[in-house]
Amino acid sequence: TAQNATAPTDTAPTDAASGNAALTARWQGALMDNYGTPRLPLTHGEGARLWDAEGRAYLDFVGGIAVNSLGTGHPAVVRAVSEQVARLGHVSNLFVAEPPVALAERLLALAGRPGRVFFCNSGAESVEAAFKIGRLTGRSHMVAAEGGFHGRTMGALALTGQPAKQDPFRPLPGDVTHVPYGDADALRAAVTTDTALVILEPIQGENGVVVPPGGYLAEARAITRATGTLLVLDEVQTGIGRTGHWLAGQAEGVDADVITLAKGLAGGLPIGATLAFGEAAELLTAGTHGSTFGGNPVSCAAALAVLDTIASDDLLRRVKAAGERLREGVWGLGHPLVDRVRGAGLLLGIVLTEPLAPQVQRAAQDAGFLVNAVAPDVVRLAPPLVVGDAEVDALLGALPGILDAADTSAAAR
Ligand code: PMP
Repeated sequence: TAQNATAPTDTAPTDAASGNAALTARWQGALMDNYGTPRLPLTHGEGARLWDAEGRAYLDFVGGIAVNSLGTGHPAVVRAVSEQVARLGHVSNLFVAEPPVALAERLLALAGRPGRVFFCNSGAESVEAAFKIGRLTGRSHMVAAEGGFHGRTMGALALTGQPAKQDPFRPLPGDVTHVPYGDADALRAAVTTDTALVILEPIQGENGVVVPPGGYLAEARAITRATGTLLVLDEVQTGIGRTGHWLAGQAEGVDADVITLAKGLAGGLPIGATLAFGEAAELLTAGTHGSTFGGNPVSCAAALAVLDTIASDDLLRRVKAAGERLREGVWGLGHPLVDRVRGAGLLLGIVLTEPLAPQVQRAAQDAGFLVNAVAPDVVRLAPPLVVGDAEVDALLGALPGILDAADTSAAAR
């Protein structure tokens, strides 16, 4: 319950050198400020619960931003990681080990088609590999969506459709056209037989959980097929159960040529994967790309544990049910600050009638819930896939008060 979630515990140390303010001050002196001052030092967690440096408990509706798919400290992940790091923590790409091979086989089986996998360490890197696959087609033009987010490395940034993030770093590589997201006609007009790839997110997560019209991805598939262009689905945020499907593209019946994965795949360990099918699978050949840590056995073992648990615990069904409970519950509050709730599964955006998302995030934290102001007027919810009904209900019970408090704090400014 919300009461339990906010109840102080005696499990975390509380002293002047390691409390919230002290850790934040040390952070400011030691780390680069690229994210702005973080809002909360966290020390440990269990499932969908997290504790701060002063022993205060929170229910986690951010999930490490859609990363901690099984929550914190899931026994299957702990066991897989411990056993693998003791057995064989790293091998260079001069050798092979069982976990990356098994994981690649599993991912291709989930996709339902033969192909090949490149492993790396993050979402941006998985997109970089897709970018290079695109270049190896011999074409250079690429098409991406306005508002899309594909990562911060230079190739991924070129595809990211957010000028504020791109402008300080121009010139960016590539010859990229950005088109309005969800508009199949605009896409058709931009894609030619010189276009190497089209990259799209099934749902634009960082842009505020923006869902395209039904049939958009299928139209993108038809358009790219007609021009011999690769369709890349960036499933870094939507993949591996987040929307209640193994892959969000599958829900739309769309088979992409390239699929990028990261975030939730290894339940919190760093990993990225680029899946390629058909001719796209044959383009990155010996000497064209690489990564020292890519395919690390520990991350791959964690990912195998995540995939096993999603299957054995029927989590795809669970995500759909919990997502509906959350979506309908938020909408059912009938709160004047809630304009709409959008998304799929456990990737939801509460669209507000006013740009008060930061205030909602703050009020939620004060009430013992972690949520994410992903846009000025959108609060993103991406809890662990294992979040329980009681935890969902705790947020729903507290939300009217949180939304009222956010409104009041805005009025008081
Ligand atoms: N693609 C998408 C769709 C993402 O949501 C993100 C991260 N938010 C990335 C790529 C980049 O991932 P990373 O931060 O791991 O580089």
